[in-house]
Amino acid sequence: MARCLVFMLLFLISTVGLPVEPPAELLQLGDVGGGRLSVDPSDVLEASRDFGGLTRAEPMAVFHPRGAGDVAGLVRAAYGSARGLRVSARGHGHSISGQAQAPGGVVVDMSHGPGAAARTRALPVYSPALGGQYVDVWGGELWIDVLNWTLSHGGLAPRSWTDYLYLSVGGTLSNAGISGQAFHHGPQISNVYELDVVTGKGEVVTCSETTHPDLFFGALGGLGQFGIITRARIALERAPQMVRWIRALYSNFTEFTADQERLISARGGRSRFDYVEGFVVAAEGLINNWRSSFFSPQNPVKLSALKHHSGVLYCLEVTKNYDDSTAGSVDQEVDALLSELNFLPGTVFTTDLPYVDFLDRVHTAELKLRAKGMWGVPHPWLNLFVPASRIADFDRGVFRGVLGSSTAAAGGPILIYPMNKQKWDPRSSVVTPDEEVFYLVAFLRSALPGAAGTAQSLEALERQNRRILDFCAQAGIGAKQYLPNHKAQHEWAEHFGARRWERFARLKAEFDPRAILATGQGIFRPADSPALVSDS
Ligand code: FAD
Repeated sequence: MARCLVFMLLFLISTVGLPVEPPAELLQLGDVGGGRLSVDPSDVLEASRDFGGLTRAEPMAVFHPRGAGDVAGLVRAAYGSARGLRVSARGHGHSISGQAQAPGGVVVDMSHGPGAAARTRALPVYSPALGGQYVDVWGGELWIDVLNWTLSHGGLAPRSWTDYLYLSVGGTLSNAGISGQAFHHGPQISNVYELDVVTGKGEVVTCSETTHPDLFFGALGGLGQFGIITRARIALERAPQMVRWIRALYSNFTEFTADQERLISARGGRSRFDYVEGFVVAAEGLINNWRSSFFSPQNPVKLSALKHHSGVLYCLEVTKNYDDSTAGSVDQEVDALLSELNFLPGTVFTTDLPYVDFLDRVHTAELKLRAKGMWGVPHPWLNLFVPASRIADFDRGVFRGVLGSSTAAAGGPILIYPMNKQKWDPRSSVVTPDEEVFYLVAFLRSALPGAAGTAQSLEALERQNRRILDFCAQAGIGAKQYLPNHKAQHEWAEHFGARRWERFARLKAEFDPRAILATGQGIFRPADSPALVSDS
């Protein structure tokens, strides 16, 4: 079987015509089953970087599986290898700090994995037991493809989203997957019925709330530590046709957050918005904000007129879904909901668009940024969950403190919106603050090329991240990082808290005993590198 691998490599080399020598260790790996192991320099280069652009680490090879069996074959071989070869799943490489990288190991390219994915996709199914529809998808499938598939098969769509859809199912489920629907439906990890997971021993395990629940909940928000998700059963709903997208400005933070929290609170049988987000912005920041396209010629915005209120403004962003049967009542419903809010008079902007265009809105911005060469720049993002009881302190200490009342200094959009903890299953691995309501605060920064020495340089933005984290620690804000990035194991233990850390470490020992999976997260010491993760 080792011969089979050699043939595959030789075939690859002859196909691409590159004089690439497969490392001896790969040849010794033996039988990895099917799939294609590639040492093609362009594959290796792609797998060595990510959206963050902050770290770069080359794998020895990239594996292109055709299905779960191939992933299992590779992981089994790595598990049995002399040094415990690292294996990292890579969804779409949209991590910030090398989380999907596998220095010296093998990266499993999940997004382009089974070339036949499109042909083998399952149709949506109605389950009387679940009382709804679901679809089974490949773990490397992009959410945009899941959406297009389910829409074209019964007009269905997943219920819970991320703001950007060019992310893989396995990648977002390994974190949480949040957007403005999370207050109502919970994060994406609360909208999954079943998973197939290839554990760190190379076993394929089907798990759910009732079957192998430890692995199921461990893998949801589990940062790829317990296995590679090869299939996910995603809850669906009937997709609305249209969206009324509304923004309104506030200068008073207390009123802004009070309104956001009112909108996400349980409202009994009363009407509600379908999506609640918000962002912090300075008048000048709107110009560079990827969301500023909203303020179109049809919606002229005289922000200068608002400037005397404050250097910092807060923008509430909500939507109301509708279709042909409800189009007649949408105006009335939206007016009633807006009448309860305390935004600045005359600052409501609305636009109506198809549901798909709303969900895919960030891609439109991506294309514009790509055209300007601004998509591939370094992204020192910082995402925090902040308890609601401390969000006003956070405003004073960060938006009006560290940022010096100039959100333009943040180098990109700053999202802020609340969620209800009751919609998050405490059995999942994701860490949130110990409060019923908590906010996502996301600093989505882009470092400008050639901006050394200025506020927009990578160094300045990273310095600002550290100052924000220091402020949170010193003021005892109780914030938790979302898409966490910690350098030392004691920081991870603190991130999880004693009880959850004990459970997380126990699951690691059970499902990935050689710690070969997702080593780019830097949580556990990989078998082959005792010095990589410091304990101090
Ligand atoms: P990758 O970067 O490829 O992988 C991330 C981690 O998951 C790695 O550790 C990897 O090993 C592991 N992994 C990947 N696939 C699997 C798998 N199949 N099984 C197990 N582990 C796996 N997040 C939100 O919640 N909401 C948002 O609105 C949002 N918007 C974003 C917008 C942009 C432009 C970007 C760049 C990111 C955004 N994110 C958002 C963050 C995003 O959800 C995470 O970075 C996610 O991990 C990216 O998915 P990916 O497929 O690119 O994962």
